[in-house]
Amino acid sequence: MKVLVTARMPEEVLSLIGQDHQVESYDADPPIDRQKLLRSIADKEGLLCTITDRIDTEVLDRALALKVIANYGVGFEHIDIDGASQRGIPVTNTPGVLTETTADLAFALLLATARRVVEGDKRVREGKFQYWAPLLFLGQDVSGKTLGIIGMGRIGKAVARRAAGFGMKLIYHSRTRLSPIEEQELWLSLKPLETLLREADFVTLNVPLTPFTRHLIGSRELELMKPSAYLIHTARGPVVDEAALVVALRQGQIRGAGLDVYERESELCPGLADLENVVLLPHVGSATVETRTRMALMAAENLLAGLRGDPPPNCLNWAELMRNPA
Ligand code: NAP
Repeated sequence: MKVLVTARMPEEVLSLIGQDHQVESYDADPPIDRQKLLRSIADKEGLLCTITDRIDTEVLDRALALKVIANYGVGFEHIDIDGASQRGIPVTNTPGVLTETTADLAFALLLATARRVVEGDKRVREGKFQYWAPLLFLGQDVSGKTLGIIGMGRIGKAVARRAAGFGMKLIYHSRTRLSPIEEQELWLSLKPLETLLREADFVTLNVPLTPFTRHLIGSRELELMKPSAYLIHTARGPVVDEAALVVALRQGQIRGAGLDVYERESELCPGLADLENVVLLPHVGSATVETRTRMALMAAENLLAGLRGDPPPNCLNWAELMRNPA
C-alpha cells in the first residue's frame, strides 16, 4: 500500500514501514507545503503526520483511499477526528512515550524562570558578571512553594512527581478527580480553578487544546494569580490568551512565565520577546533523541496496524468507528 510520511523521520522507522509498503517521505524540516500535502494524499492508504499538518475536510475529501491516520504526537487538535470517523478512518496518537520528557521540560522552565537562568546566562556572556554580591540577581525559591497543576493527566502527574521531589506543596484542577489513593501518594488536593490561581506560586498548564480549554487562561484568570506567581505553559498555545499574558507580564500582574508553545506558532504576540521575565522555547517539550524515536516507532506501529485492518493500539476513535461503521 502507499504511505505518505509528512516529516523527516528516523531511518529505522521508514525502513520498518517500507518493508511491506511504498513510502513517500517528505525529507525536510519545514512543514510540508499544503498544496503538496493535498496532491500527495490523493492515492495514499496510510498517512503519518505531525502537528504542523492540518488534516481537515479539504484533506480528507481528497484522501479517498485512506485507511489510517497516524499522528506523531499526543495532541490531536489539528485533525478533524469526526470527519475521519465519518469516513471510517481510524486516527491514532502517541500517548505515554513523551510524558516524562515533557514533564522534564515543564520543570526546566519552572526552574529557569524562578532562578533567572536565561537572564543570568546572557549577563555572563555579555561580560557583565563582574563580582558576587549578596543582593545581586536574586530569584525565588522553588522548594516549599505551592504548585498548581491544571490538567492532571499523564504529563500533569509526571510534573507532580517532580515537584514532590522538590518539596513543593501540590494543588490541582482537572476535569476528572484522581482516586483518593493517587491524591494521597503525592499529597495532592483538588481545587476549583479560581482557588488554584489565587493560591499557587507556580501554575503549570497540562490540558489538551479543546473548545473548553481555548483561552482557559485569559486576563481574568491572570488577574487572580499572585503578583509573585509564574505561569509555566507546555500544553498548546491557544490555551493561553497570549496578548493578555503580555499585558500581565508587562504590568507585573504576575512575576514571570515560561513558555514552550504559542498561540500562532511560530509567530509571537507583539511584545512577548521584549520581556525579560519570560523564558521562551521553540516547542521542544518532547524533543529528545530517545523520545522522538519512541514516538516515531509508536506512530509507525499504529500506522501498520491500521493498514492491516487491525485495531491500532492507540486509536482515538475506535469506539466511534465500531458504533457507526462508515
Ligand atoms: P492527558 O493524559 O489526556 O491529560 C490531559 C488532562 O487534562 C486530563 O486529565 C484531562 O481530564 C484534563 N482536562 C481536559 N480538559 C480539561 C478541562 N477543560 N479542564 C481541566 N482539565 C481538563 O494528556 P497528556 O499526555 O498529559 O498531554 C497533555 C497535553 O500536553 C497534550 O494534549 C498536548 O497538547 C500537550 N503536550 C505538549 C508537548 C510539547 O511539546 N510542549 C508535548 C506533549 C504533550 P480527563 O482525565 O477527564 O481526560
